[in-house]
Amino acid sequence: MTASGGESNVMRYTIYFTLGLFVMLSFWGRPLWALDTPAQAFQSGWELFHDLLDDPDKAQYRSWWLRAKDHFLQAYKHSPQGSYAPKSLYYLGRTYQELGKRSFLKSDSLKAVDYFQRVALRFPEHSWADDAKLFQAKVYLENLNDPDKAYLALLSIRHTYPKGDQAAAAEAMLRELDSANMENIDEAEIGPKEQTDKAQTGSKGLGELLQVRHWSSDDYTRVVLDLDGEEAYSHMLLNPDPSLEKPFYRLVVDVQKTRLSSEVPGEIAIEDGILREVRTGQYKNDQTRVVLDIQNIDDYRTFSLNNPYRIVIDVYAPETESRSGKQAQTRDTDDVFSGTLVEQLGLDIQTIMIDPGHGGKDPGAVYGKLYEKDINLRLGKILGRLLEDKGFQVRYTRTDDRFVPLEERTAMANSKKADLFISLHVNAHENSRVNGLEVYYLNVTSSKDSVRVAARENAVSAKKISDLQVILTDLMLNSKIEESRNLAGVVLKKVLDAERSFCSLKDHGVRRAPFYVLMGAKMPSVLMEIGYITNSKDRKNLQSKNYLQLMAQGIADGIRTYRAQINKYAVLGGAETGSD
Ligand SMILES: [Zn+2]
Repeated sequence: MTASGGESNVMRYTIYFTLGLFVMLSFWGRPLWALDTPAQAFQSGWELFHDLLDDPDKAQYRSWWLRAKDHFLQAYKHSPQGSYAPKSLYYLGRTYQELGKRSFLKSDSLKAVDYFQRVALRFPEHSWADDAKLFQAKVYLENLNDPDKAYLALLSIRHTYPKGDQAAAAEAMLRELDSANMENIDEAEIGPKEQTDKAQTGSKGLGELLQVRHWSSDDYTRVVLDLDGEEAYSHMLLNPDPSLEKPFYRLVVDVQKTRLSSEVPGEIAIEDGILREVRTGQYKNDQTRVVLDIQNIDDYRTFSLNNPYRIVIDVYAPETESRSGKQAQTRDTDDVFSGTLVEQLGLDIQTIMIDPGHGGKDPGAVYGKLYEKDINLRLGKILGRLLEDKGFQVRYTRTDDRFVPLEERTAMANSKKADLFISLHVNAHENSRVNGLEVYYLNVTSSKDSVRVAARENAVSAKKISDLQVILTDLMLNSKIEESRNLAGVVLKKVLDAERSFCSLKDHGVRRAPFYVLMGAKMPSVLMEIGYITNSKDRKNLQSKNYLQLMAQGIADGIRTYRAQINKYAVLGGAETGSD
């Protein structure tokens, strides 16, 4: 007993010692990774990853997966355009996919999706791009329980890689999802049985679907459902079904506890762009159904906005010739290398959408007879002229004193394929001493002050802003957050430089907040608060033409600097790094 006990102690110490040595070595070893070639870093990651797949006990530990991730991330960062970059991104996706299965954390699985997307986006020609898409579908299906998104990922394999080695697997998964959807397909049509009883009683306590608005281009469409109050809704995507003589996708949105207003037409034909038609109906006594017939779909998002309540549906088509065609027109032929990369990454900047905030019945911030909406428009026009002089194409969400809903402004920018979106505003504060300049980009925030500004610009309460932050996380996956932050940074700096000769402007820095007007924007976008109408010094400046001229000059310089950075960045081959 004693002897064997002693023996096992010796054994234990030996194991501890060996473990300790191992831990020390791996800590000492850590800085050496920096000297690894991408091939070595990738190989270490690959070995660890497969080791973890074979060892269920070890695979329980998050730290091991994160270590594998570190290897792949290092291989990628070392050479973001090198031959190991696509493989590293792919394995970063695989690592987070396996980690997500074990951690059950949504954030892990979303990272997996993000990395798989990057493989297909940055290296569409690579032989692993379709494998990445297939795994992306699996993460949606198995980890995230989102068959719609899985379906979209599989469709993109059908469209983009019909001859790839994953085509058969993708088709098999599509068939499986189709049969699961079969029962829904029968329901997708709007039953005429109850369409006639619109006027019947029984609508007590039900909300009303008042209006359907839409904007569509060949690769983007936004549909907005206006309701008279907040109601729950659900959505599903149905694939084309030849037997129904409807060979297009159908996105079905059901709104609970509502009646369809008699003002809303049953069919709204569109047929310009990817949206063919919107159909509406009273699907059940207390449920309205809206069906979008869509030509081509790559992804879609839905979210709701408040005051008044509306449901926003954004549909994106796969990026096709239209985009590269647009860029080919102005391609600088003597710099083929940068051209190709800028094109690939979709970074080229030509068209600027200027959004003078508020207008018409919505004055924005007010001080006496001075209205925010007028200052925004004045600045917008000066800025537009400056940018046109510099060779940019300029679009406006409004050029006169009219009301334009916030979601329509974003829809205009997306459907006009603007490359940057600049929303102009004036701030207000109950404390008249508060003054200065802020540049915002879309993101969740914990700052009370940013919440206050977003609540004011969105015309909702601060409480609604915190609800909004939850849905924003999903929405942001496809937004240009990092690019918007960079744009905000250079614009802020250039405006401060430009105004220096006129006055010393208080710099509140780059901030983030969930602004409705930036939600769903496909391009880098910022919202500027150019001064406080409630502060006497700022107010005087805001009424000065010279001040606005310098402000516009600064913004235009910022945009040109940003564009130059993007082009330089693409030439150097510096792709953005991983998400952590
Ligand atoms: Zn405003």
